Amino acid sequence: MSASAEQAVRDVLTLAHHAGSQGWIPATSGNFSARVDAEHAAVTASGGDKAKLTSNGVIVVDINGPPHPRASAEAPLHLALYRISPDIGAVAHVHSMAAVLASLHFQKTGQVTLQGLELLKAFRGNTTHETSLGVPIFDNTQDMDGLAVDVEKRFKGKPLGFGFLLAGHGLYAWGRDTADTLRHLDAFDYLFTLTLKLKGIPV
Ligand SMILES: [Zn+2]
Repeated sequence: MSASAEQAVRDVLTLAHHAGSQGWIPATSGNFSARVDAEHAAVTASGGDKAKLTSNGVIVVDINGPPHPRASAEAPLHLALYRISPDIGAVAHVHSMAAVLASLHFQKTGQVTLQGLELLKAFRGNTTHETSLGVPIFDNTQDMDGLAVDVEKRFKGKPLGFGFLLAGHGLYAWGRDTADTLRHLDAFDYLFTLTLKLKGIPV
């Protein structure tokens, strides 16, 4: 395995262990990936508790290729994101309580709007709290290939943002690299929790 592939595998472990430590990936849920190069990404294989993920649970796949036999059902979404933009270097998918509650509470409006909060500066390129971040909500489905097509249509050639929600399911978040993605995950969790609490919803 190349040095860049080995680093991507370590990055996937870092993302998974952080999400596990926060209680965001119960019951073997969640999946994580990091870009190796223009054509490859390291992604979590199907199944297993990702809080205890080891390098055996990470596979290197072709971003444009057919599904890897050990890839998780949600791998197509990760690969779609890498195809959408070369600026996406790592992707995390979690089933955190705050993300799922927000996805259901705001489902009818089609997005969660985060605005006027200092922690919005955690997102790459934001320099002020006087800004607004819309997080789109997609309907959940078991057809992950179809959803990957919808996601590509929604984001390709448009401002990327930093994540989207699947209603009643969870959050996809990304960044230029693993450090960005970790920071964005933490910021989303804080901001979803705060936004729900302001609506009187206990999280
Ligand atoms: Zn999921």
